Amino acid sequence: MKKVLITNVTENLADVKNTREKCIRCSMCKFPPLAVVENSEHSMGCPSYEEFLFHSNSGGGLVAMANSLDRGRSEITDSVKETVYGCTLCGLCDVSCKYGAAVEVFDTLLALRKKVFDEGVVYPEHQQIIDSIKNNNHPLISHVSDNHQAMKLSSDDSADTLLWVGSHFARDTRLQGWFLDIIKLLKAANISFKLLFDDEPDTGRAALEIGDVELFKRQSQKVSDAIKLTGANQVLCLSAEDYSTLRSQTPKYAPLDVPIKHITEIYDSIIKGGKLTVSKVDDFKDVAWHDPCYLGRLGGKFEYWEGVETKINQMPVYVPDKPINYGTGGVFDAPRNIIDSLILSTRKEFSRRKEYAFNAGESGQAIAVMPEFAKATARRRLQEADDLGIRTVVTECPKAYLSLQAVIHEFSDIQLISLTQLIMQSNY
Ligand code: SF4
Ligand code: SF4
Repeated sequence: MKKVLITNVTENLADVKNTREKCIRCSMCKFPPLAVVENSEHSMGCPSYEEFLFHSNSGGGLVAMANSLDRGRSEITDSVKETVYGCTLCGLCDVSCKYGAAVEVFDTLLALRKKVFDEGVVYPEHQQIIDSIKNNNHPLISHVSDNHQAMKLSSDDSADTLLWVGSHFARDTRLQGWFLDIIKLLKAANISFKLLFDDEPDTGRAALEIGDVELFKRQSQKVSDAIKLTGANQVLCLSAEDYSTLRSQTPKYAPLDVPIKHITEIYDSIIKGGKLTVSKVDDFKDVAWHDPCYLGRLGGKFEYWEGVETKINQMPVYVPDKPINYGTGGVFDAPRNIIDSLILSTRKEFSRRKEYAFNAGESGQAIAVMPEFAKATARRRLQEADDLGIRTVVTECPKAYLSLQAVIHEFSDIQLISLTQLIMQSNY
């Protein structure tokens, strides 16, 4: 029988048919793998299943829903819409599935959202975000400012590094101080960079997550063209979401031939290289790094693949070998190295960490339509910190930070700080 050539660039439910039909309904995607579970209290991995408690709210349940819709056995109802978007697209299900099976769960969830969006079923809040990307070049619908204004003198057009500020740092009034601190640290380390200001296109990540793949493709092309025009040989992302998007999603639709770095990697390198002087501080106790999903398991580099699926002893195999995303391709060590170099005490760890970290409610555009679900997810992450005696939670994802900040007042013994703040306070 003639083999059909397939690729790992998938958009529609039909494109992921071969993978989603391999789901064996084992439910492993609800949890981190048993081998890494450290205690029963923090053994759940899927924020939506933990909140809504229906199988349909898990990765495997959504895969089953995709199968049903694609076969015409069911149709898109309000309840289907709520289930599809009541998920943070955190990707835990995808990497947990890969531990023992091989379903492309994340790609299936994206294809499911595209199907719902293409059928014209869209939340008004999501439509506002889509309209804002198209009309304003950013996805924000509140707290909008122009943080770029203070940066006009910072750009060095001869620099090899392009600083990719991202829509959130560039536009969210709550992030202006953080953005300024990053610039101060880079200047203190004599790192030169160029900025695109208003010519920096939004990556379109929100459109991808809502299901408007056509808009995401257009933004991807704009991103690719803008980077190429600068002639930069490195792109430095300030936002974890942009890091994930430029590494794992944009290259599916537009060429990106330059290395993409995250600010935590640069901090690590300039501290290790002595370009930024830091001294240990004793102000922070029981410090732990919260792995943002965008920076960690969703930050792996996309590798294009095409080939065929065949069978050996009834076991499906791909020829040539297909890259498998185990969620380990993002940034995990750099922030931990930095914290170790800044604090006098021993750093702590969350039980659910690295590629199996629990989400903070920031991703997948769920926060726009189900803010209480996002808050409950952030609360569960901070409860884990509280249970483990973590008193200082550090992260460097503006969206995760804001999501955690919304409930931090419920945990009087825990403080939340960005890695940038931590470095600033170490008397650089
Ligand atoms: S998606 Fe993977 S982990 Fe989840 S039920 Fe299916 S086979 Fe099991
Ligand atoms: S992406 Fe995250 S929230 Fe959504 S089903 Fe998977 S584990 Fe659950």
